[in-house]
Amino acid sequence: MPGLRTILHAAVLLGAAILAACSERSPAPAAPATAGAIEAVCTTGMVADVVRNIGGERVQVAALMGEGVDPHLYKASPADVRLLSDATIVFYSGLHLEGKMGEILEQLGRSKPVVAIGEHVDHARLMSPPGAAGVHDPHIWFDVSLWAQTIPAVREALVRIDPAHKDAYAARADQYSQRLEALHMQVQSAMVTIPQGSRVLVTAHDAFGYFARAYGLEVHAIQGISTESEAALKDINNLVDLLVSRKVPAVFVESSVPRKNIEALVEGCAARGHTVTIGGELFSDAMGKPGTDEGTYPGMVMHNVNTIVKALGGS
Ligand SMILES: [Zn+2]
Repeated sequence: MPGLRTILHAAVLLGAAILAACSERSPAPAAPATAGAIEAVCTTGMVADVVRNIGGERVQVAALMGEGVDPHLYKASPADVRLLSDATIVFYSGLHLEGKMGEILEQLGRSKPVVAIGEHVDHARLMSPPGAAGVHDPHIWFDVSLWAQTIPAVREALVRIDPAHKDAYAARADQYSQRLEALHMQVQSAMVTIPQGSRVLVTAHDAFGYFARAYGLEVHAIQGISTESEAALKDINNLVDLLVSRKVPAVFVESSVPRKNIEALVEGCAARGHTVTIGGELFSDAMGKPGTDEGTYPGMVMHNVNTIVKALGGS
C-alpha cells in the first residue's frame, strides 16, 4: 500500500527533522546504563506490562493505548506512527484485538520484529464466539494462567535482538511467571466466595468469556466480543428479562466502553420493579491510570475481582 508507505516515510523524515531542530525532544541518555537500550512500543497496557516486567532496565516501553482507550476501535495517530517507526521492536496483543491496526502492523513487520504475543498461547484454550468457528475471542488477559503463556514469546523476542542479556531476561520472565501464578490463585480463592446463585456477570461488551471460564461465572454482555457492532434493543430487553428473572443484584460498566447501554439495563429493570445497581467500573480492554495500582496488569485484575466479589455478595 503506497499510501501507508508514504506516511511512514514522511513520519521518519519528520522525526529526523524534529530531532535535528529540537534537542529537548530526545535528550541523550545521561547514564551509560541506558546506552543502547531497546525501545519497545506496545499497543495495550496489558501487553506493555508483560514487556516492562521482562525487559527491566534494558527496555524502554511505551504503550500506545492509555486508560479508557478501546483497542477494537483504535487507529494509529501520526504520533503513534512516528513512535512505531522509531521503535526497535513492536509488541501487540493480536487475535484481531487491534482490529484497525492490522495494516500498519503488517507494514512494520517488514522492517523490524513485530510480535503478536497472544498468538503464542495454546490455541486449544482459545474460545470462539457462538457460530464463529475460527474466530478467536482476543480477551485472553482475563484468564491469568492463559495470559502467562505470552511470557515466553516476549522473552524469546527480546533475547533475539539482545542475546547478550539472555540470562537477565530469563530471570525476569521467571519472576513474572511466578507473580502471575500467585495472582491466578488469588483470583480463584476470591471468586469462590460468591454464592453459587449470584455468579452472573453482566457487562457492556463480551470481554469476560475467559474470566468466566477460568473462575466459574456465567457471563452475559450487551455487545459482542468487539465493540464495533451496535447493541440492539432486543439484546437489551433479553438481558433485562434475565436480570429480573434471576434477581441479579448488579451489572458492571467498563472503563473503555460508553456507559449508556448499561444504564439502559438499570432503567429497564426499574420499570419492571427490580432494582439492579451498577456494581462498579471494570477495566476490560484498558488498564487504569499509569502510576496507580490499576495501571498495572495485576492491579487491574484485582480491581476487577474485588469489584465483582463485593457487588455479587462474596467476601
Ligand atoms: Zn474487547
